[in-house]
Amino acid sequence: MRELLHSLIEKNKYWTQYGNVATYIPELSNSNPDALGICTMDIDGKIYCEGDYNTKFTIQSISKVASFMCALKDNDINKLYSKISCAPTSDGFNSIVNLETKNSHKPLNPMINSGAIATISMVYGLTANDKFNRIHEFIKEVTGNNNLKINYNVYQSEKNTGDRNRALAYFMKSTGIINEDVEDILDVYFKLCSLEVTCKDIAHMSLVLASDGILPNKKRLLSKHICKTVKAIMTTCGMYDGSGDFAVSVGIPAKSGVGGGIAAVVPKKMGIGVFGPALDKKGNSIGGIKLLEDLSERLDLSIF
Ligand code: GLN
Repeated sequence: MRELLHSLIEKNKYWTQYGNVATYIPELSNSNPDALGICTMDIDGKIYCEGDYNTKFTIQSISKVASFMCALKDNDINKLYSKISCAPTSDGFNSIVNLETKNSHKPLNPMINSGAIATISMVYGLTANDKFNRIHEFIKEVTGNNNLKINYNVYQSEKNTGDRNRALAYFMKSTGIINEDVEDILDVYFKLCSLEVTCKDIAHMSLVLASDGILPNKKRLLSKHICKTVKAIMTTCGMYDGSGDFAVSVGIPAKSGVGGGIAAVVPKKMGIGVFGPALDKKGNSIGGIKLLEDLSERLDLSIF
């Protein structure tokens, strides 16, 4: 396995030249575009890491999976669906168009920016700070890393420039999807996106989903039902408007972030974390997708 991962990293580094690191959050433009790393954790406890698996990067949209898990723990599913749909999208992750044109004004799904901001507002907490602490503590548990910290440079950078997210959130306040102070909810969103992780952390999160909610120490963190819902939404929406292509070429539930991470779940088998900050046009790691394509092919991982 180690040799396989090593050779697939070497092979797929080639693709990083065809992508670009995110620059719309200025601090992310400092990432090394050539980096590519992977960590796999299988359900029997075997862990393999290769390439730039030790490099820290910000979790970005992969935090949307954790926010969604918390919202599912805290709410009746019908209440959640009254605010957020679970429909795939052919628009970009920060698109605003559907919020106005769809009759319900609901964000299409919890894996895009509008949906994640609405999801955070549904997480239990009397104040925005309570919500942040609740999701932060949960991410520590699901990643098995008690030391997860905010990268304050990325947080400030995104807070200073996150006007598209502001537009989404103010629009959703105007239509009653969110009721709280918009800046408070956005602050939680920006902080969550700025948590620093490695491939290992997101592989661990994926492993918990692969194990239907059981941590490696055998403690149950999530119900099987929640995991089923989350994996279904990851499969259909986790790679934004690239989800269909990814389902065909890789075929496993996954979630990407503009920091370059992809968390990928092989149900009942394995959690995978990849990192490659050069992104394709849809904001997904270009080398990461190619690496997962090859791995899926070689190990026959597709669920379809
Ligand atoms: N923090 C990023 C944003 O709001 C997250 C987007 C992403 O990872 N796709 O734009």
